[in-house]
Amino acid sequence: MSNPSTPQRIVIVGGGLAGTLVAVHLLRRAPSGTLISLGERGPLFGRGVASATDACVHLLNVPAGRMSAFPDRPDHFVEWVRERTGRAGFPKTVNPDDFLPRCLYGDYIGYVLTEARQQADPSVSFTARVGEVVDIDELPAGGAARVFFSDGTTLVADQVVLALGNLPGEYPVRSGRQVYRSRNYVHVPWAPGVIEGIDPEAEVLIAGQGLSATDIVIQLAERGHRGRIGCLSRRGLRPLPHRRAGTPYRDFLAGEPAPATIRALVRRIREEVRTAAEAGGDWRDVIDAIRPHSARLWAALDWSERARFMRHVRPYWEVHRHRLAPEIAARLQALVDKGRLEFLAGRFRHLEETADGLRVIWRPKGSDVDVERRVAKLINCTGPRTDYSKYQHPLFINLLARGLLDHDPLALGIAATPDGRVRRYRGGVIPWLHTLGAPLRGVLWECAAVREIREQAAAVAGSLLTVEAGGGAPSRFQRLVEEAKSHIVEVGVEELRAELAAGEKSLLIDIREPEEHVRGGIPGATHVPRGVLEGRIEQIAPDIDTRIVLYCAGGNRSALSAENLRRMGYTRVRSLAGGYGAWSRAAESR
Ligand SMILES: Cc1cc2nc3c(=O)[nH]c(=O)nc-3n(C[C@H](O)[C@H](O)[C@H](O)COP(=O)(O)OP(=O)(O)OC[C@H]3O[C@@H](n4cnc5c(N)ncnc54)[C@H](O)[C@@H]3O)c2cc1C
Repeated sequence: MSNPSTPQRIVIVGGGLAGTLVAVHLLRRAPSGTLISLGERGPLFGRGVASATDACVHLLNVPAGRMSAFPDRPDHFVEWVRERTGRAGFPKTVNPDDFLPRCLYGDYIGYVLTEARQQADPSVSFTARVGEVVDIDELPAGGAARVFFSDGTTLVADQVVLALGNLPGEYPVRSGRQVYRSRNYVHVPWAPGVIEGIDPEAEVLIAGQGLSATDIVIQLAERGHRGRIGCLSRRGLRPLPHRRAGTPYRDFLAGEPAPATIRALVRRIREEVRTAAEAGGDWRDVIDAIRPHSARLWAALDWSERARFMRHVRPYWEVHRHRLAPEIAARLQALVDKGRLEFLAGRFRHLEETADGLRVIWRPKGSDVDVERRVAKLINCTGPRTDYSKYQHPLFINLLARGLLDHDPLALGIAATPDGRVRRYRGGVIPWLHTLGAPLRGVLWECAAVREIREQAAAVAGSLLTVEAGGGAPSRFQRLVEEAKSHIVEVGVEELRAELAAGEKSLLIDIREPEEHVRGGIPGATHVPRGVLEGRIEQIAPDIDTRIVLYCAGGNRSALSAENLRRMGYTRVRSLAGGYGAWSRAAESR
């Protein structure tokens, strides 16, 4: 628990959706004196790239009924809109199945933050700080870290949260990079004013066919663009539409062990889609029913299977999973039918600046002949890159140089535990550094939509508030725990819960003291206090390949015990990240 005499200083880097929701949970629960700073490069808090749009034609791609900021209050967003229906910028009526403008969602998150600030304990300090964070340094004493802003100012923090969102995309072709300085090339499609100044008769090419590409097309159409718009992607797959008012599908994966190969997983999903279709159902409901199991399914795949997923399955998964609002899909189709929009399959080969635009050479899929196009503008919507450790931003360069950043084996995100504790370069967890959202893609895969972010935000805030305040150098105990965690495997609460629900067998051992155990624990656990664990384990688990999960109150003692069992030869022992505390908090927020 926090020590009231030394209040915690928490700095959140990134004031988009994730960072703002962490701040909201902290404001609701932080003890007296806590100092919370939310650092955001832009002037708008709670919006991030998705909701910063002022174009109200950009709709959420998830129905309003699933967009509440709080998992335990699913109607919160719809009710907030309903109370304001008819006002300027708000719809006249609202239903949970409606796809509402993203700018409205940004207003909602801003409101949630304002309300949390008004209701917080007056002694809890909150500062919204506009500025670019360019470095974070670990302090030997007097605070865990120092956060540097680009204007030279700094903040000392006991805990830091990286809520950085997505990185911009890769360049369409690697050679001839000078073309990317051209004013006819747009690298970041979310930047304000990207379509300003485009001649309505001119031809525009968009690299990519996903949700950001859709945004640009809709924005151009809204402005009365009459020139041809092309969207080019390798496979030519575009997002499929939502169905209005989907029907919740049965939890078909509950009680099933997670397949260990991507081939088996795809086979299982296809089989279920067929079953659903035979019963008159829709594949979309089956895809949505996978969502609560995604972290468990991902965890069951080793890195080579995950690599196979990325190579062969991901593009198909993306278009089925990240769907378009039906009205947006209908508008795209109408543009295609009028010959104003085309979806192209192929790869970029060469780009060159010309006097009035760009010369684009591309190779259609399945062809061995290049094709040339002259376009006024090329807008890059290839989807976010994920290799944070290679991204040339001072923050990542500095974190890497300090050994405070690593990537997972496929560079899908930042190396971290499932509950968002960042790992040192080739090392154990950093006790004061946390992350959530897109940087957790390598660990969780599904992690960057509102549904996941709102749960992660509550969990990260909870774990920040259970850390001892006072900062400073890590104690010898903390160092020991950190060392142990760099050798062992941890399991997150959601992952464990899903495994238990699926009937995946693990020997669950509560290693807390008897007086802690009697106050409550995880159902089905065996109680073996830590002091006698090594002496008894061979009777309880004679097979060294037994799957074992150890838990204590906060995940530290169990990490030390897991390390001991690992050294005794146990091959499949894990420690519950965040311990019983995290387990109970997750249960409360359900
Ligand atoms: C176009 C688009 C549409 C989406 N639509 C939906 C949807 O309909 N439904 C859904 O569930 N999900 C949607 N998502 C996915 C997801 O919900 C959003 O991306 C969400 O905003 C992610 O939250 P975040 O906080 O992780 O990132 P962001 O909201 O992007 O916030 C990250 C913030 O960090 C700031 N930042 C980064 N680096 C620094 C730094 N060094 N210093 C200071 N500040 C920094 C950025 O300025 C940004 O504001 C969408 C995503 C995009 C891109």
